[in-house]
Amino acid sequence: MDETKVKIPELFGSLVFNDKVMRDKLPKDVYKALKKTIDNNTHLELDVANSVAVAMKEWAVENGATHFTHWFQPMTGTTAEKHDSFINPVGDGQVIMDFAGKELVKGEPDASSFPSGGLRATFEARGYTAWDPTSPAFIKDKTLYIPTAFCSYGGEALDKKTPLLRSMEALSKEATRLLNLLGNTDVTGVATTVGPEQEYFLIDEKDYAKRKDLIFTGRTLLGAMPPKGQEMEDHYFGALKERVSEYMHDLDKELWKLGIPAKTKHNEVAPCQHELAPVFETSNVAVDHNQLTMELMKHVARKHGLVCLLHEKPFAGINGSGKHNNWSISTNTGINLLEPGKSPAENTQFLVFLAAVIKAVDDYADLLRLSVASPGNDHRLGANEAPPAVVSMFLGDELSAVVESIEKGKFFKKGGKVQMEMGATVLPHFFKDNTDRNRTSPFAFTGNKFEFRMLGSSISVAGPNVILNTAVAESLNLFYEELKDVPEKKLEEAIHELVKKTLTAHKRIIFNGDGYTDAWLEEAKKRGLYNFKTTVDSLPCFIAKKNVKLFTKHGIFTESEINSRYEILLENYVKTLHIEAKTLEDMLAHQFMPAVSGYTKTLADTITAKKAAVSAVACKAEVKQLESISASYDKLYALYEKLVKDTVKAEKEADVLKAAKFYKDTVIKDMDDIREIADALEEIVPEDVIPYPSYGKILFYM
Ligand code: ADP
Ligand code: MG
Repeated sequence: MDETKVKIPELFGSLVFNDKVMRDKLPKDVYKALKKTIDNNTHLELDVANSVAVAMKEWAVENGATHFTHWFQPMTGTTAEKHDSFINPVGDGQVIMDFAGKELVKGEPDASSFPSGGLRATFEARGYTAWDPTSPAFIKDKTLYIPTAFCSYGGEALDKKTPLLRSMEALSKEATRLLNLLGNTDVTGVATTVGPEQEYFLIDEKDYAKRKDLIFTGRTLLGAMPPKGQEMEDHYFGALKERVSEYMHDLDKELWKLGIPAKTKHNEVAPCQHELAPVFETSNVAVDHNQLTMELMKHVARKHGLVCLLHEKPFAGINGSGKHNNWSISTNTGINLLEPGKSPAENTQFLVFLAAVIKAVDDYADLLRLSVASPGNDHRLGANEAPPAVVSMFLGDELSAVVESIEKGKFFKKGGKVQMEMGATVLPHFFKDNTDRNRTSPFAFTGNKFEFRMLGSSISVAGPNVILNTAVAESLNLFYEELKDVPEKKLEEAIHELVKKTLTAHKRIIFNGDGYTDAWLEEAKKRGLYNFKTTVDSLPCFIAKKNVKLFTKHGIFTESEINSRYEILLENYVKTLHIEAKTLEDMLAHQFMPAVSGYTKTLADTITAKKAAVSAVACKAEVKQLESISASYDKLYALYEKLVKDTVKAEKEADVLKAAKFYKDTVIKDMDDIREIADALEEIVPEDVIPYPSYGKILFYM
C-alpha cells in the first residue's frame, strides 16, 4: 500500500476493531449484545464473547496479526503486554489460527513482578486481566491488542484502569440521579470526556547515547546553560524544522491508524520542545490513547534518528514538559453539562454542576495535588513555568461576576442588558477568549470544560481523572441527598439556596490572578489552601481519614488498595531518587571529575613547559586558572564524598517514608550543591574536555 496516496479517512482507525468493523463482522444479535455491554456497562455472556472472539481473530489475521495480547496498565506508569500466538496444533504437524471467548475476556498473567504495595504476596503470583470492551481492540506490531483491567487473585485493583472505570461509574450514577431529580428525566447515564495536551522534547539520538543521565534517569543531572536558552521566545509556535516536521507527519499517521484523533501540533517554549493535542474522547479511551501516544512518540522518534524525552524536566534552566487534562461531563442525550446554558433550565443545570466542581476542587484539593505528584513534576510545580503547587480555580471575569452575584443574592447585570437570576433569565454567552487568558492557573474554566494543568508530561492521565471524577461524584451525591425530599413546588428555591450556599462556602478556591507571584502564595496561606511543595509532602494525604472515606464510599478503592498505592508511590519516589543519585555519582567518578582533573594536569604541564622554555615567564593566567579550578575541584570532591555517604545512609533506612524524606531533604540538596559547582566548572574548561555533549550541542542541534 502506497501510504502517500492513502486518504486519511480510510487510514484513520484502519487498525482498530471499531464499531464499523463490528457491524460488518458480527452477527446482528451478537453486535447488539456487545453494544449493550459497551453502552450500559452490563455483563457479557460467554457465547457472545465466543462469537466476538472469532470475528476479532478473523479480522486481526486478515490484517496481518499472528498474536494477541491483553494490554494493561500496571502501577509502573507504563503499559504491559505478553504475547500469545493464535496457533493451535491440530495433529499431523498442522495448526489452525484459534481464539476463544474465554481468552478474550480473561487472562492470567504471572503478576508477581508488578508493583502491588504488599497487596499480593509474591508466592501468590496469579493476577487477572479482564477485557474492557468500552475501549476498542487494535493491531500493533502484528499483534491484536485487547485493552484490559488488571487485578489480583483476590480482586484488588493492581492497575490504573480499574479505579478509573470505577470512578466513571460512580460519577455517572450520581450525576444521573441528580439530573433526573432536576427534571432531566431522559438522561440514563453520563460520561466524562478528556482531551490531554501532551508536551515532549526531541533530541538527536547520538547525543542521547552519550549521556548516562538521560539514559538512566530521563533527565540531565549536570549541564551548564548555553549562551542562548529560551529567552528570545523564538521557538514557541515557530516554523517546524524539516526533520521535526517529518517526524510529526509520521507520528500523526501512526496515531491515526490506531484511531487516535491527533489534531494539533506545534513548537513549544523551550528549544527542541513540542506539543501534540488530540480531540477529546471518553475518559478511559483517552487514557489508553494517551499511553499509546507516549509510546509511539518514542518509537517513531527512533526511526528518525531522534529520541523523544517525556521527562518533566529534562534540562535545568529551561521549561519542562507538562500535560493539560481538559475535562468535561456529557449526558448520554448529548448535553455537555459544563456548557453555560441558553435557557433558564439549562442555566440551573450548569450552575449546579459548576457548584459541584467548585466544591469538589476545594474539598479535595489535597488529592488533586497528590494525583500529579512525581519526582519529575517536583521540578516544575511552583517554579514559574507551570502552575504553583497550590490548587486553585480560575473562572474568568464574567463567570466570577455571576458567582459573586449569586452569592450576594443580587442580580447580575452586564452592560445593563443581561440579567442573571437562576431559573429566570439567561446566562451571558461566554467567549472562549475571555476565559482562557490566564495560563498560570492550575485548574481553569475554559468556556465549556475545565483544564487541569498541573500534570507532568510522563504521567498516566488515569490518576488525576480518578480524583476529579470521584470528588465531583461526592459533591453531586451530597447535593442529591439535600434535595431529594424537597417538595416539587419548593425545588427551584432549594436549588438556588444550595448553589448559593455552596459558592459561599467554597469561594476561597477561586483565584483569577497571577498564580506565579509570592503575593498569591501568601494569600493562599491566609485562605487556608494546601501548599504541598513536593511529592513527599503531598503523599500522606492519600491515607488521610476524609480521603479514605471518600474512596470507600464510592467504591473506588478499598482501604487495602489505598494503603498499597500509598506504599507504591513512596517506593517509586525512593527508587527514582536512588537511581538519580547513583547516576550522578557514576558520572562524577567516571567522567566529570577525571576530565576536570586531567585538565588541571594540562594546565600544570603548560606552566612547567612555559617556564622551562622562558624562565622569566610568570604564567600568571595559567596559575590563576589552575588555582581556581583546583579549589572548585576540591569542593566538588568533598560534595561527591558526602553524596556517596548519604546515598548509602538512605539505602539503609528501612522505613520508606523516612527514606523518602531523607532523599527529599538531604540527597536532593547534595545533588543541587554538586550541580552548582560542576556547572560552573563546565563553563571554564575547554569544550572537548567534557566527555558528553553539552546543553548547547543538544538543544541547538537542528
Ligand atoms: P486550547 O485553547 O487550549 O487549544 P481547545 O478548545 O483547542 O483549547 O482544546 C484543547 C483540548 O481540549 C483538546 O484536546 C480538545 O479536544 C479538548 N476539549 C475540548 N472540548 C472538550 C470537552 N468537552 N471535554 C474534554 N476535552 C475537551
Ligand atoms: Mg491547554
